[in-house]
Amino acid sequence: MLRLTDIKLPLNHEEQAIEHAILSKLNISPSQLLSFNLFKRGYDARNNKDIQLIYTLDVEVENQSELLTQFERDPQVRITPDMQYKFVAQAPDNLNNRPVVVGLGPCGLFSALILAQMGFKPIILERGKEVRERTKDTFGFWRKKPLNPESNVQFGEGGAGTFSDGKLYSQVKDRKHYGRKVLHEFVAAGAPEEIMYVSKPHIGTFKLVNMVEKMREKIIALGGEFRFSTRVEKLDLEPQNEGYKLKGLHLSDNQYLSCSHVILAIGHSARDTFTALYEQGVYIESKPFSVGFRIEHEQSMIDKCRFGENAGNPILGAADYKLVHHCKNGRSVYSFCMCPGGTVVAAASEPNRVVTNGMSQYSRHERNANSAIVVGITPEQDYPEHPLAGIELQRKLEDLAFSIGGENYHAPAQLIGDFLAGKPSSELGEVKPSYTPGVTLTDLSKVVPDFVTESIREAIPAFNRQIKGFAKADGLLTGVETRTSSPICIKRNKDYESVNVEGLYPAGEGAGYAGGIWSAGIDGIRVAEAVALSIIRN
Ligand code: FAD
Repeated sequence: MLRLTDIKLPLNHEEQAIEHAILSKLNISPSQLLSFNLFKRGYDARNNKDIQLIYTLDVEVENQSELLTQFERDPQVRITPDMQYKFVAQAPDNLNNRPVVVGLGPCGLFSALILAQMGFKPIILERGKEVRERTKDTFGFWRKKPLNPESNVQFGEGGAGTFSDGKLYSQVKDRKHYGRKVLHEFVAAGAPEEIMYVSKPHIGTFKLVNMVEKMREKIIALGGEFRFSTRVEKLDLEPQNEGYKLKGLHLSDNQYLSCSHVILAIGHSARDTFTALYEQGVYIESKPFSVGFRIEHEQSMIDKCRFGENAGNPILGAADYKLVHHCKNGRSVYSFCMCPGGTVVAAASEPNRVVTNGMSQYSRHERNANSAIVVGITPEQDYPEHPLAGIELQRKLEDLAFSIGGENYHAPAQLIGDFLAGKPSSELGEVKPSYTPGVTLTDLSKVVPDFVTESIREAIPAFNRQIKGFAKADGLLTGVETRTSSPICIKRNKDYESVNVEGLYPAGEGAGYAGGIWSAGIDGIRVAEAVALSIIRN
């Protein structure tokens, strides 16, 4: 097959226009075109009066080699690459060394699935509950029930992204096309087919819940074993050379599991586990992350600004944005985890702390658009004391948000106009907060360090130049956004193994090797392959 890239057609083109574009690009007759299918569809809305759809198409033609020679110098015509996932190993019949996966977020889920598909019958340990039970706890907390520290937005089957917008894209390098395997498996588990070809796929919260269950069933059918409400508390380590060798895991309820290969995919909020690992001598470094607020506007305003007259076109869906501003003080402010037509969610996992995040349903039909507006911070500049000092900084800000919010899990919030003018808010405007259990209007500069306030105050008017209305006075800021990525990195070597613990494979977002659902899934596949290869070598 040939892959044609960058085929541009107007937004409202006729269906046959795609075929015509192929014939015209390759200068062939209709009889020479045997078939074609859509590989990717994106859009260019820079000029919203003339929005273009941009296609990547795989085409089967009669005279392929002739055309390849003819278009030798044209980068838009190439052989379709083989993107099929290929397993790197097969478990031996006498497998007596079952790998263990800790954490059932997207990273752990894909590690477990790949290991199961290769016959390694993984044991999966998850501190939280099965996804249905977890959903009750999480939605309960949003409706003012007590926070369950082991079953919430961060913890439980499906991991941190289960109640999310389910965006499935990132800028990670994926030379081996593992991302396609992630998408294929998601579709097999019930995700909409379109995630295979739209340029910015998303799934939405409720679909994710069902998909996670289906994937669990698949892993069990392949011999995998799940243990929920089972927290890894400590590693059982044996000193070896300059470091250690893993012998087993100490689990909650005084259980013990003997094992030699553990994929540690515990996400960015497992602060207790990070501390335990550090105290045991696992090599951990601090790393940069970002802090700030969630911003909310009416989605209709964002749609109008991005798509003009074409706002509401079903192919475009609800508009998103991606913004960056480099401040005079040397800091950078950027939008992150934008959720079109979604809600701001209470994302705490520790009692008496307030953290925000965002989610949407697949339809993205809620009234507000929300996004994190955050400032990048670094260990060198902002928390140099200790490898775990970033966690302490996160906790400090989340404590402040809890106390300023009124000590009842209401989040502190402020109107954009008041924030820019430096005065506390006392009354809501047209943009109604979507955060539950509720918000407390206040002065958000009391929640974050001064440089964060200063940087965001400079960035919002700059963003308003790109999205007219972004600095609208009655838009809303809600705080505090601290869990943008992991504050630590559990360093691993080129074989994906911890640099000082043989048998420990740190993976995913918590270990500092992914950011988002898709990239966590990709990292899970990579590490599963490394573990499989190590088991068959030993
Ligand atoms: P996690 O998903 O965090 O999973 C880690 C798992 O490990 C958890 O289930 C946890 O309970 C378990 N665990 C932790 N400690 C232990 C222990 N000691 N023993 C046993 N189990 C343990 N990303 C996107 O790409 N798109 C989005 O739209 C998006 N929206 C988001 C919305 C929200 C509300 C949140 C919170 C996050 C969102 N993210 C989104 C980020 C995304 O969810 C994460 O990047 C991703 O889930 C990381 O995957 P992971 O598997 O590495 O870790």
